[in-house]
Amino acid sequence: MLIDFHIHLSRREHERPWVLEYLDHLYEGDLWELVDRVLTPAEIRPFLQSHGIDWAVGLAEDSPATVGSTPHEYVADLCAKANALPDPPAGPRGRLLPFASLNPFIVNDLGHELERLVKELGFRGIKVYPVYQHHYLNDIRMYPLYAKAQELGLPMLVHTGSSVFKGARIKYGDPLHLDDVAIDFPNLTILMAHSGRPFWYQQAFWMARQHKNVYMEVSGLPGKKLLEYFPELERLADKVVYGSDWPGNPHLRRNVDAILALSLKDETKERILWRNAAGILGVEVRG
Ligand SMILES: [Zn+2]
Repeated sequence: MLIDFHIHLSRREHERPWVLEYLDHLYEGDLWELVDRVLTPAEIRPFLQSHGIDWAVGLAEDSPATVGSTPHEYVADLCAKANALPDPPAGPRGRLLPFASLNPFIVNDLGHELERLVKELGFRGIKVYPVYQHHYLNDIRMYPLYAKAQELGLPMLVHTGSSVFKGARIKYGDPLHLDDVAIDFPNLTILMAHSGRPFWYQQAFWMARQHKNVYMEVSGLPGKKLLEYFPELERLADKVVYGSDWPGNPHLRRNVDAILALSLKDETKERILWRNAAGILGVEVRG
C-alpha cells in the first residue's frame, strides 16, 4: 500500500519557461515527452500503478506570476476520466484525488469558488502556495478559504519552506504562520508540504506536535535524511505523511524505498506511507 500526497499534474503548456528549464535539468531523458505521454486519462493510472501507488493527490495550481497555472477544469477532467476506468483486480489502483488551488489575488470570493469546485468538479482538498502567490499564511484574506475548507471537511496541503523557482518569496513559507490558522480553524486538517525545508524543520516538527490538526508532509526531502532532520520522528508517527512532489522529484519510488530502510518501527513506516493519509483523505484501503 502506498499513498502519494503530492503529485503535480501540470503539462508543459501550464508552466512558466524557467520552470520547464529547471525541471529539464533534473531528468536524464526528455521529461516533457514523459509528462505529455503519462498525463492522459488512459496512461496516468497505469503509470502510478507501476510505481505501487494506490491513491495519489493530484494538484491544480494558480500562480501565474511565478510558476504557472494548471487549470481546475483540466485537473478535474483528467482525474474523473482516469478514475472511471476499471480498477485492476489486485495490486495498486493508482486512483487520483484532485486538489484545488485558489489565488487570493485572482479570486475574489474564495469560499464560494471553493464550494463550486467541490460540488461541480469533484475536488477533494486544497493546496495553498504562499511562496508563489505572495501572501502570509495567516493573512486575513485567506480566512474565507480556510473557513470553507473546514466547513466542507477538506484537507489542506500548504507549501512550507524554500523554492528554487524565480519569483518565489521564501518568507511566506514559514510554517509558524500556520500557528494562527491551526488555532482559528481547529477542525481544519493542515499538512505542511516539505515540512519547512530546509531552515524550519524544528518549527514544523513543533507545529505538528503542538496542534492536533497539523501534519508534516515530507515530499521533496531525501527519505534517507528524515531521521537526521527529525531525530524524534517516531514520536510523531501518526502525524507524518509521504508525498513525492513528482515530477519536481523525478523518482516516484526512491524516497519510498529510503523510508522503508530507516530504523523506524514497521508500524511507523506504514503510517507514513499510507495509513495516516488514508485517514485524512477518507479513502478505503486494501489490507
Ligand atoms: Zn510540489
